Amino acid sequence: SASMHTNAQQASPMGTAGLTLDEEIQDEPRLLEQVEAYFDRASLKSGIPVDYLSYIKACDNIIRFTIPLKRDNGTLELVTCYRAQHKYHYLPCKGGLRFSPIINLQEIMALASLMTYKLEVAGIPFGGAKGGVKIDPYDYSKSELERITRRYTLELAKKGFIGPGIDSVGPDMGTNEQIMTWINDTYTNLFGDQEINANCCATGKFINQGGIQGRQESTGLGVYFGINELLENEFFLKQAKLEQGIKGKRVIVQGFGNVGYWAAKMLHQKGQAIIVGIVEKNSAIYDEKGLDPDDVKSHFTRYGTLNYYPRCQEQTCIDPASFIERQCDILIPAAIERTIHHKNAAKLQCKILVEAANGPTTFKADEILAQKGIMVVPDILINTGGVTVSYFEWLKNLEHISPGKLSKKFQQRSKLKLLQTVGMKITESSPLYKNLEGANELDIVYTGLEDFMTEAVQKHWALALLNNVPLRDACYLQAMTDIYKNFKERGIAV
Ligand code: GLU
Repeated sequence: SASMHTNAQQASPMGTAGLTLDEEIQDEPRLLEQVEAYFDRASLKSGIPVDYLSYIKACDNIIRFTIPLKRDNGTLELVTCYRAQHKYHYLPCKGGLRFSPIINLQEIMALASLMTYKLEVAGIPFGGAKGGVKIDPYDYSKSELERITRRYTLELAKKGFIGPGIDSVGPDMGTNEQIMTWINDTYTNLFGDQEINANCCATGKFINQGGIQGRQESTGLGVYFGINELLENEFFLKQAKLEQGIKGKRVIVQGFGNVGYWAAKMLHQKGQAIIVGIVEKNSAIYDEKGLDPDDVKSHFTRYGTLNYYPRCQEQTCIDPASFIERQCDILIPAAIERTIHHKNAAKLQCKILVEAANGPTTFKADEILAQKGIMVVPDILINTGGVTVSYFEWLKNLEHISPGKLSKKFQQRSKLKLLQTVGMKITESSPLYKNLEGANELDIVYTGLEDFMTEAVQKHWALALLNNVPLRDACYLQAMTDIYKNFKERGIAV
């Protein structure tokens, strides 16, 4: 079990960083109503009839089931499981699987709907989905996690809730390459003989199992590419009251799991930002001169806490959440949902809030931030990097390209085709193409991801300006408009 845990980048022991005490947000609606409120606010400008708006919002298919787990000590335990498929306008559905003790059905439905909208925003032709297993993965041995994962997959398969063209599972909080590989192995054992593309049933797998280079850092890297693009945009900078460029920007990251760590690392390494604060569940550190994300990570991995980290000016285990209220340019919630709420929103001193997590800002908090003039870069735009690289993996698996070899075996022409396959508008005469001569799989993934993030940011920022709405509303507006068009064209099946 130790090896499972050290490898579990996706599943930091403190993965629920900055976890807000329930009573603080008890008087605010649940995540499902929060997402619906954002949808409704944006829909006012859509011109879409209300019956269609309700249809777009609704969750198409949901299951909740219980599986028996035989624990290592021989006792039997019941485990609650979920999968929500929000919209079938494109197939397959796609979305993460979360292992967490604090999930419930409405939250999984809300997260599935966020997937639908983010996939539209990113320009990926999938419907949104999300799954959950209600356990704390750190309470289980590796073999127990394997039994849970395999039985969960078997139940999804029986119910028609998984498959390369139905619903493709990806990593999320508390899950990692090992879990995705077990899902794939279970599914291909069942259907591999009938379904030639069986291993598109899950993404984020180990490289030797059809995984793709760069999936682990993809969400954080996408956050970096997205911020980089915004901080070059004159009008954005004006509204955000920021100077151009990432270099020298002061950043606070809340949540130091897979997403938070990689976002901090990329901003620090590639962008020369100054990471002044890192906030976790029971600990937080601060340093005016900047923290080294890798050095912090090795401490955090070793001790499971930021406490006693030696190379920082200040630390707290008494009130870690208070560190997000410090002065900075960019605040990045990268933990769980609803950590920015009506009790702390008014106290934030950042210039922009970048939602690397899903649903971190409550509706009330969003309105408070707008009043304060703090720009919000929404989840469904900025955290799309993970699912984008999952999409590359899915495409790679469809093409049956051998493990780790997206380009090596290919001559220039097939490489070009591949770049176009991952959605890049590139020709043989593009300078970008020349730069990619001799590129390996990681280069191609990074370049493809940068292209996706840059395009999504440009497109939705322009839309926000055009409609004079917040960036979040522009993203929702674009998503619902695209889905509406899709439904109008195809009609309603009977
Ligand atoms: N968990 C990722 C997200 O929230 C997506 C997982 C996937 O790659 O399917 O966007």
